Amino acid sequence: MASYAPQISSRRTFAIISHPDAGKTTLTEKLLLYTGTIQSAGSVKGKQNSRHAVSDWMDIEKQRGISVTSSVLQFTYGGCCVNILDTPGHQDFSEDTYRTLMAADAAVMVIDGAKGVEAQTKKLFRVCAMRGIPIFTFVNKMDRETRDPFDLMEEVENVLGIRTYPMNWPIGNGRDFRGVFDRASRKVLAFEGDGRANGTKKVGEVEATLGDAALTELIGEHNHNNLMDDIELLDGADSEFDLDAVLTGKLSPVFFGSALTNFGVEPFLKDFLRLAPGPGAHTDALTGEPVEPTREDFSGFVFKIQANMDKNHRDRIAFVRICSGKFERGMDATHVQGGRKIKLATGTTMMADDRAIVDEAYAGDIVGLFDPGIFSIGDTICTGKKPVQFAGIPTFAPELFARVTQVDTLKRKQFVKGMEQLAQEGAIQIFRELGAGMESVIVGVVGTLQFEVLEQRLKSEYHVEVRRQPLPYTDIRWIVNEPGTIDIPALSLTRDTLRVEDMRGGKLLLFTSPWNIDWATDHNKELKLSEFGNVE
Ligand code: GDP
Repeated sequence: MASYAPQISSRRTFAIISHPDAGKTTLTEKLLLYTGTIQSAGSVKGKQNSRHAVSDWMDIEKQRGISVTSSVLQFTYGGCCVNILDTPGHQDFSEDTYRTLMAADAAVMVIDGAKGVEAQTKKLFRVCAMRGIPIFTFVNKMDRETRDPFDLMEEVENVLGIRTYPMNWPIGNGRDFRGVFDRASRKVLAFEGDGRANGTKKVGEVEATLGDAALTELIGEHNHNNLMDDIELLDGADSEFDLDAVLTGKLSPVFFGSALTNFGVEPFLKDFLRLAPGPGAHTDALTGEPVEPTREDFSGFVFKIQANMDKNHRDRIAFVRICSGKFERGMDATHVQGGRKIKLATGTTMMADDRAIVDEAYAGDIVGLFDPGIFSIGDTICTGKKPVQFAGIPTFAPELFARVTQVDTLKRKQFVKGMEQLAQEGAIQIFRELGAGMESVIVGVVGTLQFEVLEQRLKSEYHVEVRRQPLPYTDIRWIVNEPGTIDIPALSLTRDTLRVEDMRGGKLLLFTSPWNIDWATDHNKELKLSEFGNVE
């Protein structure tokens, strides 16, 4: 076991998933406030105006004058070294958002208490669920009129298919949101003030016991009575808190709060850091053996590649999740897929308090490596006599499709090369109609920004202008039957379903509605479809 096991076990690496505007940025900022990373918080505004916002965090950065990164925010608190991975959610929602989840050991799902489970939350949740990582729920905006908490939990259970366990319970809501009841300690935390200072400072709390006259004084008789009824109902439901079920992603601990007013942020933070797991083992695809994070040798995989959009700086950054051992700047390592030794010359990750060149990092951390163009998404980098190789990163079903053709037909070669390279790099996915050539390519993306990036990069790097014709498809599924065991041309499909192929030769179906997916599986009993490609 490595001598730096303590550093590794103190790592908490997680992502916050949510639908835009649920409060992810505000909660992130409040976590920084409560961990002492920043002294005073101001609400983050104006993001809608910045069309090409690289990250929601840039707003925090601009507002607060602190440096956060486009990829990971690191700080220490209560003996933990915390890494929060950025999961862009607005205009910049893309496949990278999904890939980032492959580097997280846990997820915090922020839900708007008035809106419940929304579309983007569902998508991100499915990726976390596929990995089986623990998912903690924070029901936000309790300072506003929200839906009934029982109702919200039921929605999480029914829509997402995960069991829930309320760790605390809200007292009142809207202007009357007075505090939370902590189920483990059986204490009420009543918040001081009405939160109208908009949570720039930490909020005070008063502790009280259920049933005490002092509590009635604090929260009023009506709230007290309601709370007693709710708690009786909760206690009556025969569910035990089961940490194993949490750690395997089967049970989501639920917290209520208001990121804006800070109400409930601290109880959440404390419980989350207590329960969230440290870095886990990753499987070596070569041997099927687990690679423990405390293994002496360094290993990690590339989960995201960021190309510099600036023409003068063509460098790229490959973001690596460290799976085992210790990273040191300048170390020699093997790039497994490239089959050669490389020097990990530049590690840049930014800390919350300072942009810094990272000299060392441990399993659980993320490092951004300078990439001269050798890495692909999913690649493994490692040291040691016996190389390991982690399973690749799955391909996630795009939802927006367009047919892309070159304007100048003489530039066919550059066009094909550019499209293939950008797809290889993971900037877009490309599909070919079965039986057709590469004259026109179907491009699939998760977020529209990816189309814009494609067009800009084809123009600046390959000098090719393209035409983009939107296609009416909304869903795509990989056919995961064993190759050769299913006759794809003979499948019985709706007329508007298209049979296509991806870069690796995987066969897929393109649908114009989820209804058509059901039609396909109903009429072809043997057909097996998946919304994730390249899963090992
Ligand atoms: P994101 O898109 O998920 O990052 O959401 P933001 O953190 O940017 O929040 C979106 C909007 O909701 C902003 O105007 C926030 O001020 C507001 N907001 C965030 N949390 C709360 C909350 O707890 N209560 C209320 N009332 N508003 C909130």
